[in-house]
Amino acid sequence: MTGNPLQRVRIIPFQHGLGALDYAVPAGMVLAAGDAVEVPLGPRRIIGVVWDAERLAAPDVPAARLRPVIARLDLPPLAEPLRRLIDWTADYYVAPLQSVVRMAWPSVAFLSPREFTEYRLGGPLPKRLTPERAQALEKLEGRQGTARDLARMAGVSDAVIRGLVGAGTLIAEKVSGDASPPVPDPDFAPPALSAEQRDVADELIAAVSAGQFAPMLLEGVTGSGKTEVYFEAVAEAIRVQGQALVMVPEIALTAPWLARFAARFGCQPLAWHSDLKTSERRAAWAAIADGRARVVVGARSALFLPYANLKTIIVDEAHEASFKQEEGVHYHARDVAVMRGRMEALPVVLATATPAIETQVLASRGTYRHLHLPGRFGGAELPDVQLVDMTRHPPARGQFLSPLVVAALDQTLAKGEQSLLFLNRRGYAPLTLCRTCGHRIQCPNCTAWMVEHRLSRRLACHHCGHQMPVPDACPECGAADSLAACGPGVERIGEEVRRLFPAARTAIVTSDTITSPARAAALVQAVAAGAVDIIIGTQMVTKGYHFPDLTLVGIVDADLGLSGGDLRAGERCWQQIVQASGRAGRGEKPGRVLIQTHQPGAALMQALAKGDADGFFAAEIAARRDLGLPPFGRLAALVISSEDAAAAKAAADTLGDAAPRADGLMVLGPAPAPLAMLRGRHRHRLLVQARRDLPLPAILRGWLAGVALPSSVRVVVDVDPYSFV
Ligand code: ADP
Ligand code: ZN
Repeated sequence: MTGNPLQRVRIIPFQHGLGALDYAVPAGMVLAAGDAVEVPLGPRRIIGVVWDAERLAAPDVPAARLRPVIARLDLPPLAEPLRRLIDWTADYYVAPLQSVVRMAWPSVAFLSPREFTEYRLGGPLPKRLTPERAQALEKLEGRQGTARDLARMAGVSDAVIRGLVGAGTLIAEKVSGDASPPVPDPDFAPPALSAEQRDVADELIAAVSAGQFAPMLLEGVTGSGKTEVYFEAVAEAIRVQGQALVMVPEIALTAPWLARFAARFGCQPLAWHSDLKTSERRAAWAAIADGRARVVVGARSALFLPYANLKTIIVDEAHEASFKQEEGVHYHARDVAVMRGRMEALPVVLATATPAIETQVLASRGTYRHLHLPGRFGGAELPDVQLVDMTRHPPARGQFLSPLVVAALDQTLAKGEQSLLFLNRRGYAPLTLCRTCGHRIQCPNCTAWMVEHRLSRRLACHHCGHQMPVPDACPECGAADSLAACGPGVERIGEEVRRLFPAARTAIVTSDTITSPARAAALVQAVAAGAVDIIIGTQMVTKGYHFPDLTLVGIVDADLGLSGGDLRAGERCWQQIVQASGRAGRGEKPGRVLIQTHQPGAALMQALAKGDADGFFAAEIAARRDLGLPPFGRLAALVISSEDAAAAKAAADTLGDAAPRADGLMVLGPAPAPLAMLRGRHRHRLLVQARRDLPLPAILRGWLAGVALPSSVRVVVDVDPYSFV
């Protein structure tokens, strides 16, 4: 490409499945890489982005036959470092470029107008009240949004909302999509840091002002003040007139974090999440892209946004598996965050009490700077951990809590302190079985048992969301009153606790009960006000909550995480138990942790009891090294699926036959996936294990390109997989 301004541009169309295309630049139009444009495609007009022509191939069309670009859209262009991040992500994760571009430019944000018509309840009730309208009226109390937003909030169709607008029940209001977020004040209420905290904070501040790539692991036990310390990096980013991004595992759980942020900085940061209304999303995107949004907190999807002036990225609870995206582009936001730091020359801080093995290895090699916060702030002690051997202290028949745990709950209640029972299983019982014929109720769409949810009186599939009422009789043999709930979920533990301690006030904390930031905030308030005695929760409770009066943690089934046996089972089990235990004794009073296990001799249990993280991880890391598993070798999974069982199997075999061969490369499978059916699709898996020095993305691409598969078959490529089902 020669000449300036450009006469010919290479466009990535936003249309799924289309490759790059060249267009002519009409006289008088000036375009550069990163610009958004409208171009003709056949009889239609589509949107795309101008890309660096030397970085991707397009059909070689003579200049005379190129169609001209229609218009340049009025948007801030995607900057060079972000374009390189997008290139890298698409290449590394073997994903279509346009899918990655779309994460930077969510269409609703940039194509929507600057002013919106929103609606809220306020007019007279409609004359005709259909069930859908009644549902909308109930759900929309106190809410406002565009017709589309309201349809989503109420779970009804757009037509129902338009009907209510027509009836005058919903009244209109004009809202700006340009609202500016408040600017956090870096000096609003800084804490008095301890000497150790100060040292670490100073390093972070220096890294932010240096403006160079600096990946860092900020490790410290739960309660050591990691949040307070990385807030200093955020404050520095604000002081130097830049932006900071804080990535959190789940935005629904950030209520306590937001409150702390506001206490430290005087106002809320900008939260980026999927529940934003259209006007909020547009305003948020615009403020991020022009730099008015100074601090952004978000989950994975906040990572690719086009920050105008980013100075640092913090990945909070960096060990969390939810940073791994499991649909669309299968990327790991922790790793891409580090790569963004490299492209944009800024420090990236991975904050965690229980770093992932990949992170530990990089820190030990010196690739990541390793910062430590040694103890709990204010001298609070780490809890005393004790194993409960379930073979020696079994629960009463039909119960799940050992007498030792029951006694500890009793003592804690008597002292007026709070307890937490941790079981990483939602619902009442994971399996419903017929006592007459042995039938197990299974999801019609998945290879999975239906999980009983007694609170909502339904059976639910945790994989596809399929639901059904709990039947009165066995669906197989028809026997009445013959269905038995097998095994515990948190709801069942809650029932046991209420039977044992009828006067205790309990709260069940799962994604079924904490469905919104408001609910999370209400829970925190209730616990802080002492209105809850015993919390029974899934991993949801382990995320960042700080309850000073919580002194007892019981791990109901420590063995649960060890089953399944995937690569990270031991590590994940360790993280969950340590994080759950970390809720105990965060205030003045010392904490105590009881771990129920049938395998008290297992290395993991012994390490937990002794608090021997170093020993446990040294053994895990050695095993990974011996087996060439990540981070010493690399893995990629191919999941082949189809609604047609035979087509899925045939495609898997075809891919298996075409598997690449190379020294240091091993392809396992194809084999039926452990979840052999998911959402009605039959699934097969191939697993690639490769030495680190092999060009894995190119190998995968070449493999896939050499095989033609029917359109009924889908192949998902998962590089650095976390899920092995
Ligand atoms: P972590 O993120 O490591 O779990 P936090 O930052 O949440 O730790 O700190 C734990 C608790 O101690 C919080 O309530 C926090 O406000 C408090 N804390 C930590 N450091 C300080 C400090 N220097 N001054 C006052 N409170 C602090
Ligand atoms: Zn299902």
